[in-house]
Amino acid sequence: MKITNIRAHILEAKLSQPFAYSRAWYDTRTAMLVEIETDAGLIGWGECYGPARMTAAVVRNIAPWLIAEDPLRTDALWQTIYARLRDHGQKGVVIQGLSGIDIALWDIKGKHFGVPVHQLLGGAARREVQAYATGLYRRKSGDPLKYLSEEAAGYVAEGFRSVKLKVGFDVAEDAAVTRAVREAIGPAVALMVDANHAYDAVAAIRLGRLIERYDIGWFEEPVPPEDIAGYRAVKSALTIPIAGGECEFTRFGFRELFASHALDIAQPDTCAAGGLTECKKIADMSEAFGIRYNPHVWGTGVAIAASLQLLAVLPSHTPTSLAPVEPLLEFDRTEHPIRQAILTRPIEHENGIVRVPDGPGLGIEIDRKALSRFDVNG
Ligand code: CA
Repeated sequence: MKITNIRAHILEAKLSQPFAYSRAWYDTRTAMLVEIETDAGLIGWGECYGPARMTAAVVRNIAPWLIAEDPLRTDALWQTIYARLRDHGQKGVVIQGLSGIDIALWDIKGKHFGVPVHQLLGGAARREVQAYATGLYRRKSGDPLKYLSEEAAGYVAEGFRSVKLKVGFDVAEDAAVTRAVREAIGPAVALMVDANHAYDAVAAIRLGRLIERYDIGWFEEPVPPEDIAGYRAVKSALTIPIAGGECEFTRFGFRELFASHALDIAQPDTCAAGGLTECKKIADMSEAFGIRYNPHVWGTGVAIAASLQLLAVLPSHTPTSLAPVEPLLEFDRTEHPIRQAILTRPIEHENGIVRVPDGPGLGIEIDRKALSRFDVNG
């Protein structure tokens, strides 16, 4: 089997209501899908997290190197691409582009052997994954104490047993909002907070001390990703587990985070940190360091499916316990017109639980009509 063509699809959709996290407002959702064709008629799909036009440019520049290559050589092709770009792209959009290509190659591999990707990655440790609701963003109008409490209670009513709140706006306001959301969801539902690295270590520790009493599942990206010393300071000052890693790349990048004990929970994005090939390696490393692995997920159904294939094979966080702590799926509940529309069968949750797709490859089929509706090139 040989690769015959590689396409980069830039997708865009306007939102009905803008929403904000600590560093920006969103009024549009974008996505970048990679489509790889073969001479056997098999097509693989992948997704890149990151700025769509930039990752598309990376994929289009890599594409000629892959024509006539055997798509089943996932590890070897990863190494070839990485080695050719090593001097210029050890992190960031280059690795994000490589990630989408790698995921598409795994989709082809699974389809070639007629099995889901998780079977080729080592076999399913679980068939379904507990999802947590990512939402609770800021809106243009209204009282955040009120609308965030209502939104959080809605997720609990849907069956979610954990929710994640955006913080990083102002320490006092964050503490008030955290308290309101905790009161709205009750003591039995897990509550995580995510600052998207809006704070320095001083402010992050101040916030952490104010919200420790609300039983916080983890404090995500308290400080900028480059500030490993800041991560360590926050981690040693607080009893809340510290999470991060959606802005880190490859096993080489995570080696630094793990060896410096900066994190309790690693969150590589499968569509950014190096694809399925690399994230399996990062997951094995995180286990060796005793660090929990809960992937960051922010994309369309392709990204969700790829994340689920990896989640299926991850070890439990407490492997010898009778009540293991299982890895969680990040399930984005914000408006995303593209997310499920491009799948012929959407990946949905039931009572906060998502089944791992068990069809060949990623286990999804792309709805081409929907795809072209969002494709900026038609
Ligand atoms: Ca995050």
